[in-house]
Amino acid sequence: MASFAEDESPIMKGDAAAKASDYANYFCSYAELYHQKQMLMDHNRMRAYHDSIMLNKSLFEGKTILDVGTGSGVLAIWAAQAGAAKVYAVEFTDMALHAKALVEKNNLTGVVEVIQTSAEDLDLGDVRVDIIISEWMGYFLLRESMVDSVLRARNRWLKPGGTLFPSHATMLWGAITYEEDRVDKQDEYTSSMRDWDIFVKEMADTYKVDMSVLDKHYEREQREYYIYSSLWTELGMQHVVGQPAVVRRLDLNTCTIAEAANVPKVDWSVQVDFNTRVSGFAGWFTVDFAGSEGTPVKQRVVLSTGPEGGRTHWGQQVFYLPEPIDCVPNTRLHGELVMDRQTKNKRLYTVTASINVDDEPEPRFAEAKYEMP
Ligand code: SAH
Repeated sequence: MASFAEDESPIMKGDAAAKASDYANYFCSYAELYHQKQMLMDHNRMRAYHDSIMLNKSLFEGKTILDVGTGSGVLAIWAAQAGAAKVYAVEFTDMALHAKALVEKNNLTGVVEVIQTSAEDLDLGDVRVDIIISEWMGYFLLRESMVDSVLRARNRWLKPGGTLFPSHATMLWGAITYEEDRVDKQDEYTSSMRDWDIFVKEMADTYKVDMSVLDKHYEREQREYYIYSSLWTELGMQHVVGQPAVVRRLDLNTCTIAEAANVPKVDWSVQVDFNTRVSGFAGWFTVDFAGSEGTPVKQRVVLSTGPEGGRTHWGQQVFYLPEPIDCVPNTRLHGELVMDRQTKNKRLYTVTASINVDDEPEPRFAEAKYEMP
């Protein structure tokens, strides 16, 4: 188990101004019922959490549970319904007020205690909990960086031998073919550059200001926006080429905050088994409710956000290539992948991939660097 010394994290740190900007950029949408409802209507998500609790009731009966980021309180309510003796439900935003109302209405006052604070500022005194439950996952697992808050809570409040729900996470990187969509995105870029040319001419003709020195900057900005930004997409199995590569596995019971913060340089490889045009790549994740050595589950539950798993609000993050790659059967696409937090906003990520085709001496894309906005 990680120790306090490993609690270093840039999340929920800093002065009042830093916290205010984190609130404006990140938390404020979670204060809206509209946003919570979107998550509550994601039935694959809901079913997985509900099953993980209800099929493993014996782990909850008479136990003390901590729900990190309780939102509307739904996971805390389920833990109580499964027989928990006490559930601490922590929520930073005013959604805590709605969670309190729901707890009362569902006759669980006394079992579920909603505490409006950050997980970082939580003080449970001498209490240690048996299970920490939390729904912290963002796009391609890591976006939002909320995992820091969950692991910090684990380091402080989880009993030795306890477990996290979910307990394990896996990140996948798959090749995709989806030319209609890729070409649409590229057309938007071309059209935006055409608009710029018209604009520059108008500035010169009408207002006598030569803007052309900015041509290259605008082009770069627009390329980053239209081509080198990942996109939320709902893929079907028909879009997936070959077997996706596993690029990261995390045991949330034991990993450090630093280990869960990024994907250090990793080799990936995808075998293409039919004639196809590869448009780019997609990232998604699965989480497992498998318990820990000290707290094994009776029934393991898996939540997949992949194209094979059905719809979820996470969809998949798609990274289109500027040029597609034509592949014949038995082509091996391979390369390296790095996923790192952005310097200016630690809740956002940049994904950098190199892409090689078979044993061609030069990579097709030496460094395709995508912002995950
Ligand atoms: N558990 C709910 C909500 C999940 S969304 C459900 O499954 O439906 C994540 C919630 O965690 C949001 O409401 C967000 O405001 C809260 N949150 C994120 N980081 C937090 C932190 N450090 N401390 C307390 N709450 C946090």
